[in-house]
Amino acid sequence: MIQITAKLASKLKSCNSVCVLTGAGISAESGVPTFRGPEGLWSKFKPEELANVQAFLANPALVWEWYRYRKTLLKNVSPNPAHIALVKMEKHFKDFTLVTQNVDNLHARAGSHKVLCLHGNIDKNYCMTCAKDFNDANLAQTTVPKCDCGGLVRPGVVWFGESLPTQTFEEAESAARRSQLFLCIGTSAVVYPAASLPLIAKECGSYVVEINPEVTELSAIADESIFEKAGVALPQLVDIIPKN
Ligand code: NAD
Ligand code: ZN
Repeated sequence: MIQITAKLASKLKSCNSVCVLTGAGISAESGVPTFRGPEGLWSKFKPEELANVQAFLANPALVWEWYRYRKTLLKNVSPNPAHIALVKMEKHFKDFTLVTQNVDNLHARAGSHKVLCLHGNIDKNYCMTCAKDFNDANLAQTTVPKCDCGGLVRPGVVWFGESLPTQTFEEAESAARRSQLFLCIGTSAVVYPAASLPLIAKECGSYVVEINPEVTELSAIADESIFEKAGVALPQLVDIIPKN
């Protein structure tokens, strides 16, 4: 059992406004590798070297091979108890915002209704020339899929060096500002601007709690760190919320 402080318990029991930021770590227990963990064949490439537009233009076949591997991996995994705990939280709090850096769609598959996806969605793809959307089912099965207009089709995720969808980030920032409790789960808290959200929340007086088995950049700033796996800690937090 984790230790839940009286302060955190009282926030969970009585606050109205909660904002949650998740990163790759929340999906680790579903079997989705984080960028820091071993990824077999792909461990010799740094994600930053593959997940950027220059790498894609230089070698679209290699980048597509990596994304096909990740898409296939994701089709064979399921949401874990941490994703499910957040579905329960969404139902309980009047003002609840779930923000994720993940592209794996596991929050939606678990049943969360509203998810702010800061880095896009790996199930989507679009043409770099005319912006037409393609889902995986209507994507050409060639090594490098092309649009009818001749443009290159790319995965619908935000790559290193690209800006985040403006409106989505603004909504996330506003939720961080008005939150009374901010949970930062399974993120190394180094990828900006997502990593600024707990800092903004803290500045605005929110109670910032980190859940991560390891110390991160946020640990020194957070009001509390729960050094535990998300799938272990989150269901225990949900258990102390009064049932309504
Ligand atoms: P990261 O890989 O940099 O960090 C993952 C963090 O999760 C680490 O701090 C690690 O200690 C922690 N962690 C590992 N297992 C955990 C568990 N069971 N419970 C809680 N925490 C755990 O990931 P990041 O901070 O999300 O940033 C990297 C970028 O990579 C993001 O932009 C993200 O979009 C992308 N990414 C996404 C996925 C995905 O969609 N599942 C997977 C890999 C990377
Ligand atoms: Zn096109």
